Amino acid sequence: MRTFEIGDGKAIYAFSRGMAPAETVPAGSRLIIKTKDCFANQIRSQGDKLDSVDWNNINPATGPIFVEGAEPGDALEVKIEKIEVGNQGVMMVDKSFGVLRERFDGMYFKILPIKDGNVIFDDKLSIPVRPMIGVIGVAPKEGSFNTATPHSHGGNMDTSLIASGAALYFPVAEKGALLAMGDVHAVMGDGEVCGTGVETCAAVTVTVNVRKGLELKNPVLDDGKNLVVIASAKTLDEASRVAVSDMADILAARLSLDMQNINYLMSAIGSLQVSQVVDPLMTARFSMPKEPIERAYGFKF
Ligand code: CA
Ligand code: ZN
Repeated sequence: MRTFEIGDGKAIYAFSRGMAPAETVPAGSRLIIKTKDCFANQIRSQGDKLDSVDWNNINPATGPIFVEGAEPGDALEVKIEKIEVGNQGVMMVDKSFGVLRERFDGMYFKILPIKDGNVIFDDKLSIPVRPMIGVIGVAPKEGSFNTATPHSHGGNMDTSLIASGAALYFPVAEKGALLAMGDVHAVMGDGEVCGTGVETCAAVTVTVNVRKGLELKNPVLDDGKNLVVIASAKTLDEASRVAVSDMADILAARLSLDMQNINYLMSAIGSLQVSQVVDPLMTARFSMPKEPIERAYGFKF
């Protein structure tokens, strides 16, 4: 297996058609991808002035990486092996974002040291790191999505399950798929309610493969135990509907159950969950445990 290192100097701020690849790799490669934090590493200490931050260059996603053999109609498989985080994180609140935005009259931030696998919240509370990737995606089917926005190409999905040990599957819309990622969080709860996780730079190790002919409409994640569809839309209601509907199609194509029974099954053991409610589009996910359907029906994704 060949290993490629991709530095954080090569980054995009939008997932678009026809992006110029920063690197070309064969399918089956291991990639070590360095990422800046979502503020492009511009906020380093509690004394920093926010008016000097360039807000046009935020959410850099390292890449794009052209994966040989990936064609439209395939899925790009990205297995996350390891996420190493920096030695500090940043959180932010502002009057213009986050669920509690109306409680603030401006923008504030907090630097959180990361030591020995813990985020130091204050002198009383340490939080074990659980690193996850906020922004990860491929070229979209059409148009251009800035890296703050999640959609069917992936992007800013801010989904806590996008962590070490998980495999992600993206619908390939353009030759080479054009993978890029950034916005790693040392830890983040579902919802990302204040508008940020514990934002940090990182080194992410993944392996990339092509699943020929695996046609997907939205990103799918396999965390080992659950198969999860991740969907983003204007409202959480619509994102929920898309995630459930996509899962129904995935199950219907692989199980000899009619739609009535697929619907019973999803309602009995599946779980609709919130990923984030603070980005330009909302992200929901529908999660199905794999073991019961593998055992009973020989399910295989
Ligand atoms: Ca994010
Ligand atoms: Zn973030």
